[in-house]
This record gives sequence, structure tokens and C-alpha cells, in this order.
Amino acid sequence: MSQPFRVLSSTAALLSGACVLCDQPLAIQGSVDLCQSCSAALPYNQHCCLRCALPLSTAALPSSVCETCGRDPPPFSLTLAPLLYEGFAQLWVRRLKERFGLMEGRLLGNLMVEAFLERQAGTFAGRVPLPEVLVPVPLAASRLIRRGHNQSIALAKPLSSRLGVPLRRLAVQRIRRTATQRGLGRTRRLSNLEGAFRSRPWRGERIAIVDDVMTTGATVSRLAATLLDAGAREVLVFCATRTAPAQGTHGY
Ligand SMILES: [Zn+2]
Ligand SMILES: [Zn+2]
Repeated sequence: MSQPFRVLSSTAALLSGACVLCDQPLAIQGSVDLCQSCSAALPYNQHCCLRCALPLSTAALPSSVCETCGRDPPPFSLTLAPLLYEGFAQLWVRRLKERFGLMEGRLLGNLMVEAFLERQAGTFAGRVPLPEVLVPVPLAASRLIRRGHNQSIALAKPLSSRLGVPLRRLAVQRIRRTATQRGLGRTRRLSNLEGAFRSRPWRGERIAIVDDVMTTGATVSRLAATLLDAGAREVLVFCATRTAPAQGTHGY
């Protein structure tokens, strides 16, 4: 990429069928507005735990699970997180979150759709089933007012329209504002989130939680447990990006 710091600045590029990163005209007008070489340069999370999408060493077998999921399986049955939280993907998530970057949201959401379609057609172990409902991770009301939008809804929209799965943005509420999760380990994050969500009742649906970035997975674990308690049959996690583990740590 010749201009690595230029990020989706060109609205004209989006409208004219050009790559949003390098402005090259797109040979094929698809749902993701990136040319082949920019698309190939994205930080894909290809070799990862089937259950929590934690990046695994390349020596691990495909469709295997990480040490933590093997020992203590999370309440969700699998995670689709196509990108690592670094480079452009990290920048896009930040812009989506902090500056209401709708183009970034659309792009990340469509990359999630592409990853889903690829995995849906994949081998049995790595196959992602079609959810019946999409539930974006809710923000606490005070945070929603301050930020003005929920980034997970922007990500869930392309998934909903292209996969034909209903988006239930009010199905779950964050009933307790939790202290910031930053800097906390997984166990502390989980206890920090105790009683954080309330869900409407379900009748055996397969639900996909939609989120922007997964770090320890404590938020989606707590939300998945809440959805299962409320009657969901199965919970999947569709998350745009996944952080790589810090040196020497494990776990979703
Ligand atoms: Zn390009
Ligand atoms: Zn795992």
C-alpha cells in the first residue's frame, strides 16, 4: 500500500467503485470496497481457536481449540473473528467506535459476512451455522448517551441484511454500568460483569452476539451465559477483531 496512513478518507472512492484504501478502481464491484492487494494485506486471524478465536501457533492443528477452551469451555460454542486487532483493522475499529465511522462499520461488517460465508461452506469442524437472531453487545445507557451510537449495531447491520437474520437491538440491556475492563485479567473481568446484562426470554434460538473487539472474552462470556439462562439454545460470537494474547498469557 502506497499510503498506509490514509484511512477511508475518500467518500468519493466508496461511491465510484474504487478501493477505499488506495483509490484503485475495483475490477469487480463487490460488497467489500477493497482491491485485491489491499484486501490481501489485512491482518487476518486465520489460524485460531475454533471456540474463542485466540490466535494459535501455526503448529496447532486446524480446527483445534486453545488450552483455556480445552480446560474450561466458554458458554458460547464458537467465535468468528476474521481480523486481528492491529494495523488497519485496529484503526477502523477505533474510528467506528470513537468517531462514528460508518464506512469503517460497513467495511468491517462486510468482512465479517465474507468470513462467515467462507466458514459456512467449510469443513464440518470449522463450519459456522446460520444464527436465527443477531444480538449486538449493548452499551450502558450513560455510555451510549456520551458516545451517541453503539458500534456493534453498525457491524451487525450488514450481517443482518446480507444473511437475512433479524437484528434484535433491544433484546438485551446493560443494566449495570461496569467499571472499565481495561487492565483487568479474565477472572476479574468476569466478576466485574456479574449481573451486567438482562435479556428478554428466548425460546430455543441460536443467537449470534455481535461485537467489535474481543480481548479476554469476558464480556461475550457473560452475555452468552445470560442469553442461555434466558432460554437460548446456542450462542455464537461474531466479532470483527481479536487481540493477540500478551506474551505468556492464555485464555479467551
Ligand atoms: Zn487498494
Ligand atoms: Zn479458545
